[in-house]
Amino acid sequence: MWGLTPNQKCNYSVHSPTVVSVKLKIAAITPSLRQLFEGPLFMHAVVLGAGIMGATSAWYLLEAGHEVTVIERQPAAALETSFANGGQRSVGHVEPWASWATLPQAVLWSLREDAPLLFRLRADPAQWRWGLQFLRECSAARYQHNLQQLLHLGLYSRGAMSELQSKTGIQNHSLERGTLNIYNTPAAWARGCAAAEKISALGYPRFKTDVNAALALEPAMHASSKHWVGATYTPGDGSGDAHLFIDRLAKQCVARGARFLYNRSVQRLVASGGVLRSVVTDGESITADAVVVACGSFSTALLQPLGIRLPIYPVKGYSATVPIRNEKAVPTVSITDDAHKLVFTRLGDTFRVAGTAEFNGYDVSLNARRCQALIARAQTLFPEAAHYDQPTFWAGLRPATPSNCPLIGRTRIPNLYLNTGHGTLGWTLGAGSGKALAEIVGGATPAVDFNFLGL
Ligand SMILES: Cc1cc2nc3c(=O)[nH]c(=O)nc-3n(C[C@H](O)[C@H](O)[C@H](O)COP(=O)(O)OP(=O)(O)OC[C@H]3O[C@@H](n4cnc5c(N)ncnc54)[C@H](O)[C@@H]3O)c2cc1C
Repeated sequence: MWGLTPNQKCNYSVHSPTVVSVKLKIAAITPSLRQLFEGPLFMHAVVLGAGIMGATSAWYLLEAGHEVTVIERQPAAALETSFANGGQRSVGHVEPWASWATLPQAVLWSLREDAPLLFRLRADPAQWRWGLQFLRECSAARYQHNLQQLLHLGLYSRGAMSELQSKTGIQNHSLERGTLNIYNTPAAWARGCAAAEKISALGYPRFKTDVNAALALEPAMHASSKHWVGATYTPGDGSGDAHLFIDRLAKQCVARGARFLYNRSVQRLVASGGVLRSVVTDGESITADAVVVACGSFSTALLQPLGIRLPIYPVKGYSATVPIRNEKAVPTVSITDDAHKLVFTRLGDTFRVAGTAEFNGYDVSLNARRCQALIARAQTLFPEAAHYDQPTFWAGLRPATPSNCPLIGRTRIPNLYLNTGHGTLGWTLGAGSGKALAEIVGGATPAVDFNFLGL
């Protein structure tokens, strides 16, 4: 069964005990021995979760010729964190949170209920552990390393996304007009320009842009120009509706033969002899040759019983989506408001404002003051744009790692893989993460300089 070409699908039942047992034995041997067997290996891959990471993993695993089953507790794809995010694909805006430069501001913010970043200290060792790891990532060297890693994966993902869009033909209100970051003080603008220089030096152009140049790029910013002093512009970035894209991608996966088991919750993973044997759901127990955990913030609890501790903490964010009132007053360039850590994105006939970060466990209830803060800022910057009295509010949990870098690749259980921990950047990094994950499952090394797990 080794060394087949992609079109020569092997002729065996994926549930055949002999084949599964041979593959499990191979999976259990060391990575270097695995290299001897490199080449297409067709197997039954079970993906846990149907958010951005689960759906893109499923697509690329199908592309590689594997049989794919996806298990999702919701009635459809992308109904949790991938549902109503900011919609930005912002490779030029991958600066990690962890940096000594931004820490003092974050501490000050924590004192305000409507602050963009709110750290509610809890009697939760996981939160404290995450906080300590975050501090370790703040040094200049770690910041630069994490920035490079994210940019590499972002560029790889940008390529994968355009490949995916042209292959699937999915329409999701995509706009390729770039992203504009606005700053409300000269000092903040200077910091933004320094970040832009770093990103440009790494090969992805992001320009310092004065107010006039920014208004020429995005005339809808005229009404707000007294509220900011300068900007940076990233022409290669774009935006689009993540939920729409992932829902349609999942449907195309099904049309290509994948099984999506909805309304099915994964209860636990069963491993023995150093190999993942099965996935226990509230419906049945499912055996697999390879299991990919893409459960966002909930990946941690699934893996803990296996002794695998993930450095992921849920960071709650909000969005408000409002119907557009005046087309001309709505930006088509996606805007990031640095002072309030908010993004503004046009999605079809709606306008979305999203952002804020709250470290407060797994609660997704809506805090009225934080919801109102989103609408107030949108009204200040884009007064004519939308019917602000008709908002749809939403909150989701970003699966955040201390370094901002996601966890993609093989765990110490060789047939158990991760695609999670994408924090603020899941939509930006999603296509490339799914592609890289499928390559790793197939025994290949993705052509991108990123610290994948187990390689
Ligand atoms: C307010 C906000 C704004 C954002 N804006 C942007 C942006 O502009 N650009 C950007 O790039 N990123 C943005 N993000 C980040 C991005 O949305 C996330 O990184 C991404 O959605 C994470 O995708 P995921 O597939 O890892 O997780 P999820 O979308 O949460 O998917 C995980 C899936 O696993 C399922 N699941 C969990 N546990 C189980 C279980 N036990 N059994 C079965 N199923 C299970 C869940 O139901 C869920 O569907 C934003 C996030 C927020 C909150």
